[in-house]
Amino acid sequence: MPLLDNQGRLHQYLRISITEACNLRCIYCRPEEDTKTCTVTQRIQTMPADQCVQIIRIAAQLGFRKVRVTGGEPLLHPEIEKIVRGIASVSGIEDVSITTNGTLLANCVRDLKQAGLRRINISLDSLKRETYAQITLRAALSQVLEGIEAALQAGLHPVKINVVLLKGINEEEIPEFLAFAREYPVHVRFIECMPFLPTATDLFISTDVVKQKAREAGLPLIPIQENGSLDGPAELFRIPGAKGLVGLIHPMSHHFCSQCNRMRVTSDGSVRSCLLRDREVPLGNALLNPEQAYQAFRNALRLKEQSHFLNVPSQEKEVQIEQTSRVSLCVPHGRIPGNELLKKQMYAIGG
Ligand code: SAM
Repeated sequence: MPLLDNQGRLHQYLRISITEACNLRCIYCRPEEDTKTCTVTQRIQTMPADQCVQIIRIAAQLGFRKVRVTGGEPLLHPEIEKIVRGIASVSGIEDVSITTNGTLLANCVRDLKQAGLRRINISLDSLKRETYAQITLRAALSQVLEGIEAALQAGLHPVKINVVLLKGINEEEIPEFLAFAREYPVHVRFIECMPFLPTATDLFISTDVVKQKAREAGLPLIPIQENGSLDGPAELFRIPGAKGLVGLIHPMSHHFCSQCNRMRVTSDGSVRSCLLRDREVPLGNALLNPEQAYQAFRNALRLKEQSHFLNVPSQEKEVQIEQTSRVSLCVPHGRIPGNELLKKQMYAIGG
């Protein structure tokens, strides 16, 4: 039975967060005082490899075909290679990828490729040392650049660079990132900042600024059609003569909920059908009780709403939410006040 929700959306793409721990403290993602650091792996919320692979087996039987491993920082997981190998060997899974901050990538990317990794997304919000440190609160730019180079050398394809646009912080670097896409065979994807932390709401700028800066820099962004349904929500462009591509991901200004084919497993083992809605269903112990896990996926899908409603004006939003789920919420346009809507943040859900 295909996993269709009540809007007719077919779900084949699962993101699984294997740890909450991260070695960066990106200002829009995670509070600095958060203690889930990387140094003592025993203390962190980490999903055991066997549990993780069993969840993917169950997901594959339900029709999922594509898996992204994320976190937290997934490369901090002591069993990352085992996890990738296990997922890649699950019958029905056609594509395994990772989202990483790239700081630990250079040393392990070859092994990950051999274990079955196909593609990789690397987060990089600045090409300048100081700005990178200002955003991540860590000095690690050179490790990330080495990681990108190693990923290209290992033959991962495509290598995607995720740049979260941050008002007044990295918006002036858009031309440098466009130049990066000209020079390297990577997809540079500009992403709108979503309001997970109160600080993040003030940093929002629309991806429209990228088109404007490209025009100002005399770099035409030529739209290209995506060729397959397994590709993500990025609007893709090419620059004549460039080795790479440019993508715009705009969950806030032009959301793509109508095409959403994703579900998520959080690092503490719950299924979630929308990144931006706080509804999730615990999987239980998928090894001991697979039937409960199957049911959790089905129940989470039933909870999926038509849209995340974050950019719908308040009154309209109340009506829409009541129609689809009988929950009435009223939040101002495009904001999550005091974070009361989302109990879990991106690093715990998995980006
Ligand atoms: N540690 C990994 C990394 O840095 O890529 C994976 C987890 S991280 C939460 C996944 C992605 O979510 C990153 O590209 C990060 O920039 C993005 N992200 C985190 N908070 C965000 C927010 N508030 N708005 C938009 N993207 C966000």
